[in-house]
Amino acid sequence: MSASPQLALNLLQYLELEKIGLGAFSPLDGFMDEAQFTAVVETMRLPSGAVFTLPVLLDVDTEVAAQLKTSSEVDLTYDGELVGRLFPRDFFGCDRAPVARAIFGTDDMGHPGVAHFFSLQPVFVGGRVELIKRAEVGIWHDKLTPEDARTRFAELGWKRIVGFQTRNVPHRAHEYLQRIALEWSDGLFIQPLIGQRRNGDFTPEAVLKGYGALVGDFLPADRVVLGTLSTFMRFAGPREAVFHAIIRRNYGCTHFIVGRDHAGVGNWYGKYDAHALAHQFEGDLGIEVLRLSGPYYCETCDGVATEKTCAHYGTDVAKEINGSDMRRILVDGEAPDPRLMRPEVVAALRGVPLFVGD
Ligand SMILES: [Zn+2]
Repeated sequence: MSASPQLALNLLQYLELEKIGLGAFSPLDGFMDEAQFTAVVETMRLPSGAVFTLPVLLDVDTEVAAQLKTSSEVDLTYDGELVGRLFPRDFFGCDRAPVARAIFGTDDMGHPGVAHFFSLQPVFVGGRVELIKRAEVGIWHDKLTPEDARTRFAELGWKRIVGFQTRNVPHRAHEYLQRIALEWSDGLFIQPLIGQRRNGDFTPEAVLKGYGALVGDFLPADRVVLGTLSTFMRFAGPREAVFHAIIRRNYGCTHFIVGRDHAGVGNWYGKYDAHALAHQFEGDLGIEVLRLSGPYYCETCDGVATEKTCAHYGTDVAKEINGSDMRRILVDGEAPDPRLMRPEVVAALRGVPLFVGD
């Protein structure tokens, strides 16, 4: 019998442990202690000076915290199985409203990231972790680790690798950005985020089926690596865009695409707020952020374009392509305009549960 106390993780905590253990959140080697947390919230850097824009926290209730305080080592379990170890360094709490304002730009509970942050238990445990067992939660099991991805890129001889974050079935605006990347890089790493989602989001199955129809049949398979990233959306807009870039750096990408309203939700952030923050850290991230405009379909140009490539931005002929509209159309069982989403992608979704909570 183990002498160490046990802490049962929920799925989100387990996925965080796994990302830390795999190096996806490097240079973090554990859940944040108070010094790291405070530095990240206030300066978007770790005490070492490394840019890191979002907290990575292990939350517990006060009773559990009291039990763990006397231990130098804690067994972390998920679903009754030993999945990792924690070496607690400190226990702390925070005043949530000012922290939420710093991270999300608001403390309004109508913001899903804020609501999640407030729902965390009162005590945060900081300390180094060891991953013993990877998460295997159905399709969420993303096999490609940061090390695997780096090895794959090296085998392919790629030097300039562009990372692409998404949580949607691919439409023509995504494809436009991906082709820009493919045009001047050695290869593209498309890594949909498939962690726990909100009702109404696309299921991981739908996103992966959609990409299955795009890569190979439209985008050249030998120039695209498709992976997945099982972590949850924090909806922290600009801070999360930089966080996403840091993660893709750890997977071996040299460049990362940040488009319009990256990691945004509702109207909480400006269209290009994430570009501004990424620009602030330029040269300091170990990865270059490609700040790209949001593509739309232009009837006059007869193709997908952006405000930088077409003279008709903001006019009636510029038809917005956005994920929310696509979702609505697919919910109604209709076929989206083929100029906005490829029929082959739509066909690949047949029989697949499309939305979380359906
Ligand atoms: Zn045009």
